[in-house]
Amino acid sequence: MAKNGCPYGTHRVLEPKGVLPQQAWKIDNNMEIYDNELLIDVDTLNIDAASFTQIKKQANSKPEVMAQMMLDIVARRGKHHNPVTGSGGMLMGTVRQIGTAWAGKTPVKVGDRIATLVSLSLTPLKIEKIKAIHLEKEQVEVDAQAILFSSGIYAVLPQDMSPNLALAILDVAGAPAQTAHLVKPGQTVLIIGGGGKSGMLCLYEARKRAGITGKVIGMGSGEASCARMRSLGLADAVIQADATDPLKVMRAVAELTGGQMADVTINCVNIPGTEMGSIMATKDGGTVYFFSMATSFTAAALGAEGIGKDVTMLIGNGYCKDHAEVALQTVRECAALRQIFQEMYA
Ligand code: NAP
Repeated sequence: MAKNGCPYGTHRVLEPKGVLPQQAWKIDNNMEIYDNELLIDVDTLNIDAASFTQIKKQANSKPEVMAQMMLDIVARRGKHHNPVTGSGGMLMGTVRQIGTAWAGKTPVKVGDRIATLVSLSLTPLKIEKIKAIHLEKEQVEVDAQAILFSSGIYAVLPQDMSPNLALAILDVAGAPAQTAHLVKPGQTVLIIGGGGKSGMLCLYEARKRAGITGKVIGMGSGEASCARMRSLGLADAVIQADATDPLKVMRAVAELTGGQMADVTINCVNIPGTEMGSIMATKDGGTVYFFSMATSFTAAALGAEGIGKDVTMLIGNGYCKDHAEVALQTVRECAALRQIFQEMYA
């Protein structure tokens, strides 16, 4: 008979005892389920961009070295919780078994294809084999199993788009949904990393919410991401600049806004060191939403204080109400966005 589990998964925490699974160094990845758990046969991991970028860099982009690093992380921690970036990702798979006391929020049955909407950094995972690493999509094909606690959220994959497309969107679902909450008509919005996966979805939501009286500015460091933003036609202006150079970012945004700066800045980059660029591009009283997992709380807090900047700073909570629906809806509404996502991630 299956054992009783805690809804938050504390029964699986091995080290240190007393914390929740996300904070834990190591969790139990034995795939025999407790009564309130869901067992998933996993075929695809979508590694968080900050984590994937770090692994790729350390492995000199060699897939076999990356695979070994990923296997090592899971062997040591029982979850794909990158010890350097602290971030995870999410997964896609098929429901194999449902515990007798399972109380998940969304109806689900054995055989359903689902994507988890909680981080891999807290999800018990056992990888039998890494079959392929897709460097451009940051997705990994695996033979693996994973467990979801009953507090864990997930989405049954939609029928009107390919599973890989849905997975790519759901990975960053919190970003467009928060953008929808934050941006008001007529506002100036800066999206740093606007040509990346989360950035493009935010561009769409920012345009929709700021409306024709608003101003949407996208920023990327490379030619390709800037060209992508231009081709989408959602931004009023695109700046090609390195966001780790705060004064350059500030001057570029000042020029485009007549010195007014951004009401809302959304940080969607995949590298560290962009806190001050985001803060200095934002007006006093404005809001900076740090979706990036490479954000340093201390750099942001002490840096803002250091320049006497009164901005509201939001941590990029990956979850916000109805985030999956809002994010999937972006590509349904915008054909150009869907096409780019289809080409890049599906
Ligand atoms: P992505 O597709 O890799 O996009 C990152 C973007 O950042 C790229 O377009 C890149 O453009 C831009 N960028 C990189 N360095 C830059 C620089 N120095 N200056 C300006 N732009 C720069 O990443 P993603 O999948 O959207 O993820 C973005 C972030 O969100 C990551 O940090 C990820 O870890 C985080 N994330 C957070 C959550 C959450 O729950 N909060 C969930 C998922 C992901 P260029 O190539 O042109 O530089």
